[in-house]
Amino acid sequence: MHCLDCHTRGAASPAVGVCRGCGAAVCADHARIVTYEVRRRPLLAPPSETPARSVRCFPCAQADSR
Ligand SMILES: [Zn+2]
Ligand SMILES: [Zn+2]
Repeated sequence: MHCLDCHTRGAASPAVGVCRGCGAAVCADHARIVTYEVRRRPLLAPPSETPARSVRCFPCAQADSR
C-alpha cells in the first residue's frame, strides 16, 4: 500500500500506517501519531490510565485538534 497524500502529489511512498479517522494509508512523513489515555476501571483495583496511540493523517489530525 502507498501513502495517499504522496499519491495525490504524484509520488509513491510506502505506507507505514493507516489513519484511524479516514482509513487512508500514510507514509512516515505524513503520519501523525496521537497519544491518548485509555481509562480502565478494574473491579478490584483502583482505576488506571494507560497511554495508547493512534495514527492520523494530516487532515484528520487537524480536524481532531479543532
Ligand atoms: Zn506521504
Ligand atoms: Zn485521515
